[in-house]
Amino acid sequence: MSYVLPPPPQASVAVFGSKDRFPVRRIFCVGRNYAAHAREMGKDPDREPPFFFMKPADAVVDSGSTLPYPPQTKELHYEMEMVVALAKGGRNIARDRALDLVFGYACGLDLTRRDLQQQAKDMGRPWDFGKGFDRSAPCAPIHRSAEVGHPQKGRIWLSVNGTVKQDGDLSELIWPIPDIISILSQSMRLEPGDLIFSGTPAGVGAVKPGDKLDGGVVGLTDITITIGHPER
Ligand code: MN
Repeated sequence: MSYVLPPPPQASVAVFGSKDRFPVRRIFCVGRNYAAHAREMGKDPDREPPFFFMKPADAVVDSGSTLPYPPQTKELHYEMEMVVALAKGGRNIARDRALDLVFGYACGLDLTRRDLQQQAKDMGRPWDFGKGFDRSAPCAPIHRSAEVGHPQKGRIWLSVNGTVKQDGDLSELIWPIPDIISILSQSMRLEPGDLIFSGTPAGVGAVKPGDKLDGGVVGLTDITITIGHPER
């Protein structure tokens, strides 16, 4: 058997301390997983069970890249997040077994065309084009859980041109990582290679060409991205 077209390149993320890369199968994202961010988006954080959206696997981009400002938006927002990388999959994973699936953790950005997302919300349409556009999922090298454990508290922050804009703590997650994995696995069969963007703290905002984003989570490699001019 052969293909009628060359198969697409495998989307992947760097692994800290290794030349080998982590092959990305799917990208799941959690909406509003920090109370203060839910409030800044006009929602009551206490009322809602977690919800999810997805990005294409090939939306991943390495840290250190310059990303062209994406088309059809005037409101590109950063959302600093801790990313969970899965080494194993499964369905209906119990909460107390969920961390057995984890390969490791990384710093990531859930880049968002906020104006398109808002339009979609207003019109009852899908979020895909607000969230899942080209290069919308920059991701720093993944640290193996064997090395860093399973971060459950510690600072998560993001700065734009050296000014801190987001400053939260992993302990503020409304739905901690084991809950997220367990709940997701009740809805979809999780697979090795899946990434989960776990939600962003308060302080999201817009960027423009020339801006430099630096974000971190205690114990993980920082993520750095520069916003470039739109592609012609
Ligand atoms: Mn997000």
